[in-house]
Amino acid sequence: MRMDFDKLKKRNSFELQNLKAEGKPIVGTFCTYSPKELIYAVGGVAVSLCANDESSINIAHKELPRNLCPLIKASYGYAVSKKCPYMNASDIIVGETTCDGKKKMYELLANHKPVYVLELPNMTNKRSLALWKDELISFKEFLQEKFKAKITQENLLEAVKIHNEERELMCELMELNKAIPSPIKGSELHEILFASEFIYDKKEKIKTLKAFIEATKQNLEAKISDKKRIIITGCPSGGVYEKIIKQIENLGADVVAFENCVGTKNYRNLVEEEGNLIENIAKRYLEIPCSVMYKNDKRAQIIKEFIKEYSADGVIDIVLSGCHTYAIETNKIREASKEAGANYMSLETDYSRQDSGQIRTRLEAFIELL
Ligand code: SF4
Ligand code: SF4
Repeated sequence: MRMDFDKLKKRNSFELQNLKAEGKPIVGTFCTYSPKELIYAVGGVAVSLCANDESSINIAHKELPRNLCPLIKASYGYAVSKKCPYMNASDIIVGETTCDGKKKMYELLANHKPVYVLELPNMTNKRSLALWKDELISFKEFLQEKFKAKITQENLLEAVKIHNEERELMCELMELNKAIPSPIKGSELHEILFASEFIYDKKEKIKTLKAFIEATKQNLEAKISDKKRIIITGCPSGGVYEKIIKQIENLGADVVAFENCVGTKNYRNLVEEEGNLIENIAKRYLEIPCSVMYKNDKRAQIIKEFIKEYSADGVIDIVLSGCHTYAIETNKIREASKEAGANYMSLETDYSRQDSGQIRTRLEAFIELL
């Protein structure tokens, strides 16, 4: 079944060109806070532009400081070198006021592509919600004007429903790993989650997800497993997959959940389908427990719940070098893990391979401790 995701991903990188040739608006995004429903409702396709390898970082160093987060540098390097087909295909780029590095990167990106930066509040209170709702109304107007299309109540509701269905299925898929032993290897789950971002036909994606979930359920085995169970949290893990996720498995432990933007942050919480849809979309996105928010207590709460629900022995908190907000939250997540009875380790790293040996040694010691 995994092959279906791989095939779809490969095919869809070609299909993106066809969609563009058909005149579909292609909207490049960098963040889980980008409101995909609005892009879908205007007839567009949202594509993720977050880069996951170090090959373009040196190009970025010409304009960006070396001590910046590798995700930002790699993505910017890809953008300006014109090596990324998704960036090349994008008609516009949607940014958001999350971390400082990304905000400043969007300023520079605007020299290469039209950029719309969403003003995301730094808090999640009532006033922030009103501001965010207002921002989404402006974004809706911008999209309508830019792509000469109307976002109606009807097509917005359709967008909300299809994204909700996708989210429910993605959560169901991830939650299969609450079983002991977890039926989907962490590396495989990571690849599926990653590939899913590049499947643009939502209906086809939903069909593939349903078939995969069904097949996995039918193969659930009641076995005894003494493998240690680990939750990954922190910064997006796409660029450090080989040296962390694969390595944990090579050392004999299971990765059972991803509390990050590759995994649950992207899919938890649905958009209410009754009432004011823009307000409901604003509410749902403001619930994302990202460290860029002031008083982001939800993340620690989720970690505690996950440790129980996934019967986890350990939590590994990935901090990409230069990511201050996730680095600062490590103490809070360490405490939460301890309270819920799991061991905790934070790993600061970048996209290079230079520290692979050192990371393997630290992972080995951590897994032995569990
Ligand atoms: S970690 Fe936060 S800023 Fe980064 S992609 Fe996720 S939601 Fe956006
Ligand atoms: S990992 Fe941290 S520094 Fe990097 S883009 Fe995300 S929030 Fe910003």
